[in-house]
Amino acid sequence: MDEVVAIVVAAGQGTRMGPGQAVKKQFRLVAGKPLLDWTLEAIARCAEIDGIVVVTGVADVARLKRALLGRPELKVRDVVPGGASRRESVASGLAAVGPDARWIVVHDGVRPLVSPALVSRVLAAARVHGAATAGLPVSDTVKRVEPGGRIVETVDRTTLWSVQTPQAFARALLEEAHRQGGELDATDDAGLVERLGRAVYVVRGSAKNVKVTTEEDLEIVASWLAEASAAPGEVVCGFGFDVHRIKAGRALVLGGVRIDCPFGLDGHSDADVLTHAIIDALFGAAALGDIGTHFPDTDPAYRGADSLELLRTARQRLVEAGCRILHVDAFVSAEAPRLKGHIPLMRTRLAEAMAIPVTRVSIKAGTGEGVGPVGRGEVIEARAVATVRRPPEEGEA
Ligand code: MG
Repeated sequence: MDEVVAIVVAAGQGTRMGPGQAVKKQFRLVAGKPLLDWTLEAIARCAEIDGIVVVTGVADVARLKRALLGRPELKVRDVVPGGASRRESVASGLAAVGPDARWIVVHDGVRPLVSPALVSRVLAAARVHGAATAGLPVSDTVKRVEPGGRIVETVDRTTLWSVQTPQAFARALLEEAHRQGGELDATDDAGLVERLGRAVYVVRGSAKNVKVTTEEDLEIVASWLAEASAAPGEVVCGFGFDVHRIKAGRALVLGGVRIDCPFGLDGHSDADVLTHAIIDALFGAAALGDIGTHFPDTDPAYRGADSLELLRTARQRLVEAGCRILHVDAFVSAEAPRLKGHIPLMRTRLAEAMAIPVTRVSIKAGTGEGVGPVGRGEVIEARAVATVRRPPEEGEA
């Protein structure tokens, strides 16, 4: 009779992630699983939550029911279609919470880093005051700005808070707020309760409780989730090797740096042998196959490809598998030209593409001492070792 039910809203179409984004952000794969799964797991870990109602787009209801209802640890009781606005979506969830729900927690499906402790604190405040939300005092200086970009004034921020979810309410109060709210387009449920003239209290949230709105947010959240989930995992190494034939008249690109030289390397892509060896080492550490499986040289899409882009994609595939790149050490063997002066820029570009500090990228170079295919100036070779933290196997740890 005194149940607590969470409504997790995951009905967004993800338009702010930009056009061409085929997968809605709540379903994007992050550190091995969909963003929404991370959110549901976090909410379900709060012992006071008895059940969860997931609100999603009509097109995704059947698929999510199949994926979520068979997993008791997620506490998902129902998956229901949302409405045209956030308010309608919450109302749709509210209609499905069941007769025994007395307290309602509303949470955004794209805030996966919510902690069970924060859910508890917001709920405790709601039990005292009827309505509560997580939020943080605004720490940046706030300006009012005209559409043209001119600053109108500096706003006094001392009483300003930015509001997050979870938000928690006595069920009857939230239902009344939605009834009275009518067609109002409130951006959160606390706003609807405020319009009733009822008090809502704010509980200090967390800066990590990010709402994933942009690709940049997704990157940040992915690295935090990978870190958290990989912590009990293990550190593994991968090895990569590549060789390309020297060809007159082609541009020489090594480690993403274009080097002024009368010859380059032959190959389907930009033939960046060093970056290829690193990509192969990364895939090796994650046991994800090799560069050829991911970027086949029979695919016209990779003709003349910028290998740094391939490296970025490779990193993304490791992140999706829950892996985190710790360190890369590589060696280029070239009789000519001299590479020493180019190494700092190579390290910078490679580090940027792997989203790791430059201090975690080591590049060395040497010649073939006049012998062998390297020494005769027929080829340039590269070798790389990547150190990666990977998550434990399912069932381990
Ligand atoms: Mg290659």
